Amino acid sequence: MSNSVLGGVMGLSVGDALGVPVEFSTRAELSENPVVGMGSFGTYSLPAGTWSDDTSMTMCLAESLCKGLDYKDIMDNFLKWITTGAFTPFGKVFGVGNGTRRALEKYARGVPPLKCGGTAETDNGNGSLMRILPLVFYLESAYGLEKIQSEEAMTIIHNVSSLTHAHSRSLIACGIYISVAAELLRLGDLAAAVETGIGKAIQYYFKRAEFNEELKHYQRLSFLPAFVNTPKSQINSSGYVVDTLEAAIWCLLNTKNYKDSVLMAVNLGGDTDTVAAVTGGLAGLYYGYNSIPKEWLAVIVKRDYIESLCNKLYKTLKVNNK
Ligand SMILES: [Mg+2]
Repeated sequence: MSNSVLGGVMGLSVGDALGVPVEFSTRAELSENPVVGMGSFGTYSLPAGTWSDDTSMTMCLAESLCKGLDYKDIMDNFLKWITTGAFTPFGKVFGVGNGTRRALEKYARGVPPLKCGGTAETDNGNGSLMRILPLVFYLESAYGLEKIQSEEAMTIIHNVSSLTHAHSRSLIACGIYISVAAELLRLGDLAAAVETGIGKAIQYYFKRAEFNEELKHYQRLSFLPAFVNTPKSQINSSGYVVDTLEAAIWCLLNTKNYKDSVLMAVNLGGDTDTVAAVTGGLAGLYYGYNSIPKEWLAVIVKRDYIESLCNKLYKTLKVNNK
């Protein structure tokens, strides 16, 4: 039997590892030579199954949530990761985003956790979106899936984003993502779950003046049926948080299984590992752990470590079986 933590987090890790060898490859290069499975020795010259900062920071959050919600403890894990190579495949940290690095430097200088994330408009990389997923399990356990869009739960999502990314656009991206994740766990139909998840989050932000102005950046996602049919040429797969979220939702809704969704994400090019990780987290939640190709899971570096942490979080929180 598998559980939703295992499905979501392994879905994310496998997407990350699929994207690592081709990070920064263009869409044109990948359409000539598409990724069809776990590759190796690409951008960073690393063996197949090597995952990156996306999975590392997700592990940092998951490990901390096993002990409850403590922003300082989450930041301590991030700092341990970036300074000592803990939570990495081979003890080496690579591909860290600028926003994350700056926030952790502030934290190391004594700035309080919730004051570390950048608040400028240029601070909207996908660095908090890529690591936010485990929070859905904590919130499910604390409030129930139906209450994910409540003030209390949304504030926690925003706070966990703010540790490294505190601009309201990044907070909204994380809010939409967790709202979609919750509906994927709650509802049986993929398109209905995504539409409900986005709709409930947008409704929440629409009513709050501090977010209202930012919603124009999420206009395409708020008209979901039209968005799904957007031509690929108009889907950007950069490291900008809105692009990454859009690309992930688009890949999820234009495919019918885990494998195709993450391959589509990687082959969009650009920020391949994060776009595939963000896609893979949702696809893993929806299709379940058993839908992830066994040959991909088999090569994930430190698979046992990641899976035992997932099972620990699952047992601690006693959340959804899937
Ligand atoms: Mg990465």
